[in-house]
Amino acid sequence: MHVVKAKGILSSKNGMNLYRGCTHGCIYCDSRSKCYHMDHAFEDIEVKENAVELLEYALMHKRKKCMIGTGSMTDPYIPLELEIGNVRKSLCLIEKYGFGFTVITKSDRILRDLDLLQKMNEKTKCVVQMTLTTYDEDLCKKIEPHVCTTEKRYEVLRQLRDAGIPTVVWLTPILPFLNDTQDNISGILDMCIEAKVYGVICFGMGLTLREGNREYFMRGRSSCFLI
Ligand code: SF4
Repeated sequence: MHVVKAKGILSSKNGMNLYRGCTHGCIYCDSRSKCYHMDHAFEDIEVKENAVELLEYALMHKRKKCMIGTGSMTDPYIPLELEIGNVRKSLCLIEKYGFGFTVITKSDRILRDLDLLQKMNEKTKCVVQMTLTTYDEDLCKKIEPHVCTTEKRYEVLRQLRDAGIPTVVWLTPILPFLNDTQDNISGILDMCIEAKVYGVICFGMGLTLREGNREYFMRGRSSCFLI
């Protein structure tokens, strides 16, 4: 990891990335694409040392309450979060100032913050978005090697359901010859029904295959066919 001082934290659409880079290792990761101009190795996580202060300042000065989002470029629940705690500190602020919250993740580490998610959902609104790409556990370990598998994520969705927190599933990407079978898609949809998710997002289903993303995917894809 390396540390930087950020100039701002909230985008114009109230999204934020507390870290830059990710260690989950998904073979299809679009955030690796060169167009995002990351000037460091993707796994060398950039920590914004002043992220929490910037967020508090932004929340204090917002005229209207809204949902604050995170997780579109970097999964915030990387292992490093357990050491740094920027997500938890940010959730405390979002709850304190009465904003809503939504996150996209694949990690069961989100359960550490269940108390805060519940508090926010009671006060305003909290929506957890979880990505599910395959219900084949062995394939999952190959295409998303460094994060918990679908079975665990399904368990997280059920725990969130029981805690009254609305969830949404991202069923994407669908990769040719890997997870594009009817069995796979209906298997995931069955999980969504059982976990009572509020919606399933497909978002085009495919890959951008942009420079950076393309080479990484082709390497990862070949290793999926090796026994
Ligand atoms: S969790 Fe998201 S950001 Fe992290 S490697 Fe996977 S696709 Fe990329």
